[in-house]
Amino acid sequence: MSKRDYYEILGVNREASEQELKKAYRRVAMKFHPDRNPDNKEAEEKFKEASEAYEVLSDSQKRAAYDQFGHAGVEGQTGAGGAGGFGSFSDIFGDVFGDIFGGGGGRGGPSRGSDLRYTLELTLEEAVRGTTVKIKVPTLVTCTTCDGSGAKPGTSPTTCQTCGGHGQVRMQQGFFSVQQTCPTCRGTGKIISDPCRQCGGQGRIEETKTLSVKVPPGVDTGDRIRLAGEGEGGTDGGPSGDLYVQVSVKEHEFFQRDGKNLYCEVPISIFEACLGGELEVPTLDGRVKLKVPTETQTGKLFRLRGKGVTPARGGSPGDLLCRVVVETPVNLDTKQKELLEQLRDITEHKKHSPKQSSWFEGMKNFFGDMKL
Ligand SMILES: [Zn+2]
Ligand SMILES: [Zn+2]
Repeated sequence: MSKRDYYEILGVNREASEQELKKAYRRVAMKFHPDRNPDNKEAEEKFKEASEAYEVLSDSQKRAAYDQFGHAGVEGQTGAGGAGGFGSFSDIFGDVFGDIFGGGGGRGGPSRGSDLRYTLELTLEEAVRGTTVKIKVPTLVTCTTCDGSGAKPGTSPTTCQTCGGHGQVRMQQGFFSVQQTCPTCRGTGKIISDPCRQCGGQGRIEETKTLSVKVPPGVDTGDRIRLAGEGEGGTDGGPSGDLYVQVSVKEHEFFQRDGKNLYCEVPISIFEACLGGELEVPTLDGRVKLKVPTETQTGKLFRLRGKGVTPARGGSPGDLLCRVVVETPVNLDTKQKELLEQLRDITEHKKHSPKQSSWFEGMKNFFGDMKL
């Protein structure tokens, strides 16, 4: 998937100032905001795209990296992946939209912490059997010293005098009265004169926490496990967000997975293909024997019932499909070649290679009809 140019997404030139970027982002984001476009996937995508573009370009370091190296320069640093993905997104939201939507989006009062996303890589075996893994997640947790208020224990925040606790002030600009985030309290509506030492008045502390995630058997790439309340701590005593653990299953040496079925390719020799035989094939529960009948053609699919995956949402287990691929012998010595030549000489083409014979017949007719 090729990503669009961030400047193009926001409709600004590469020299755009911070102010111009913010303005451009507001314009695009207002247009495609999910509240204004309910159930519109395309608008949602555009909204996310613009948010990502703004997230990068509004950060001078990321912007410099992007200008120099393009998308590769900021890969993995945007909200699209990794832990903390949603956090930075909502920061933009709060910052830019705080004054558009009249202080909504978490200003002035307790607010819920952001949801976090964590990508969990699993081997196929772990995904199929289920497992319990310990993950380390960087997160902001509610400060226990001040209980999230940001004020030193024993004191409490006072109401901001400038805005009267609303977090918003009205400014007269010519004919217009414009509502803006209060510059004194920066929208919180409160003044902390005696900040908590532990968190510096933020009410939240950055912490790495170790969580134990129980992965049910049968999960697949794209499945999400929700850990309620394990996201970022809320502000001002608000509840914590959730942590979404996104499953990503690594590629396997032998098996490809398609829903509940597993596929694997098994090379066989021309002797086994001709004479039949018994093969050992891998399954996730160990080896099993697979009988190959005589005259087996390359590409033939053998189905081992119930040797696939039992889906996480229930239902019967899938199958293991083994595709045999006939391997042409290599490194033949003179003696072996001679024997093959002898075999060829006593082989009747029409009888022993019916597919090839009829194919050649068909081709002859094809060229005959075309008069070539
Ligand atoms: Zn504190
Ligand atoms: Zn204020």
